[in-house]
Amino acid sequence: MRRIYLDHAATTPTDPRVVKAMLPYFTKSFGNPSSIHSFGQEGKRAIEEVRDRVANLIGAKSEEIVFTSGGTEADNFALKGVAFANEKKGNHIITTAIEHPAVIEACKFLEKRGFKVTYLPVDRDGLVNPEDVKKAITDKTILISVMHANNEIGTIEPIAEIGKIAQEREIYFHTDAVQTTGHLPIDVDKLNVDLLSISSHKLYGPKGVGALYIRKGTRIISFIHGGEQERWRRASTENVPGIVGFGKAVEIAKEEMDEEGKRLASLRNRLIKGILERIEEVRLNGHPEKRLPNNVNVSVEFVEGESMLLNLDLAGIAVSTGSACSSSTLEPSHVLLAIGLSPVIAHGSLRLTLGRGTEEEDIDQVLEVLPKIIQRLRAMSPLYKKKG
Ligand code: PLP
Repeated sequence: MRRIYLDHAATTPTDPRVVKAMLPYFTKSFGNPSSIHSFGQEGKRAIEEVRDRVANLIGAKSEEIVFTSGGTEADNFALKGVAFANEKKGNHIITTAIEHPAVIEACKFLEKRGFKVTYLPVDRDGLVNPEDVKKAITDKTILISVMHANNEIGTIEPIAEIGKIAQEREIYFHTDAVQTTGHLPIDVDKLNVDLLSISSHKLYGPKGVGALYIRKGTRIISFIHGGEQERWRRASTENVPGIVGFGKAVEIAKEEMDEEGKRLASLRNRLIKGILERIEEVRLNGHPEKRLPNNVNVSVEFVEGESMLLNLDLAGIAVSTGSACSSSTLEPSHVLLAIGLSPVIAHGSLRLTLGRGTEEEDIDQVLEVLPKIIQRLRAMSPLYKKKG
């Protein structure tokens, strides 16, 4: 049985070209980048090259990139770092109801320490209204954090517009670009952002590495103290093989992003069209056009997402019912509730995220298998029978 992986929003396979680039940094050039000898300096040179490359991908300067252990750390660094560095100026933060837990939980932590957080609502497609951002600003607002694209429903937010509002009011603006970096073109100046989070494993790089872009002049404090790595902003011996892999992944993404984006969007459209045609009482979640090229999220009435997921898995097809982090809980997704779905409908949702390995035949296989699974599950559903 050909196994089909449609969960690229959770993580991507590490590209073999990335693995090859990483290998010498485990056994040959294994030095500590802080060491003065040649072993150390090889590692140091390698990470500085990657810093240039990451900066180049997003239109930043090299010294504005800080390596982290991933997207979660980058989000925590941005939120807590800016909040605590600017608390004399104000204690109000604006974010949205659909952020990743890395942002929401950091905000909840800050609320317990005296900060006030506004969680903006979104419309039925998951879009944040820049006017709502404007209205929420007070003279105590120090930070706005809105994700570039949502990891569950794929909606792409009006970041440049919100950034302009933040800039006019001289408020720091952070965006979680974990789902977009390496997939959509990004320019930090065009987006008007001061901080931007990146994660390597979402762009075919290794897990456990990422970066935070911090615009020069941004007031931020560090929260990992120790050595002088990352110009005192993030202590700990650098994850050299990880960073090298991240750099190779960035290089490949920069070259292949445009073409791959078009290919994925066409496969995505084929999948959406096929699902809507073949299955009744199903709705597409997320914005129909302003969405990630690889994201399909649907709610199917009268079936449980978990049942669909397990049946698809038995058929060799890996998907998700919400974000990877929440797939072990039975709580309906906060994102689906925020776009106005009832808890029951939200429970019947599936996310299918395509990637480099996805081919047309995979989409056709899903379109062959999924309607049969749903038909079988609905036949067992008392609610569906009652309706019929
Ligand atoms: N932010 C978003 C939007 C994500 O999708 C994820 C991963 O699921 C993260 C942050 C966390 O990134 P990491 O797994 O690198 O900590």
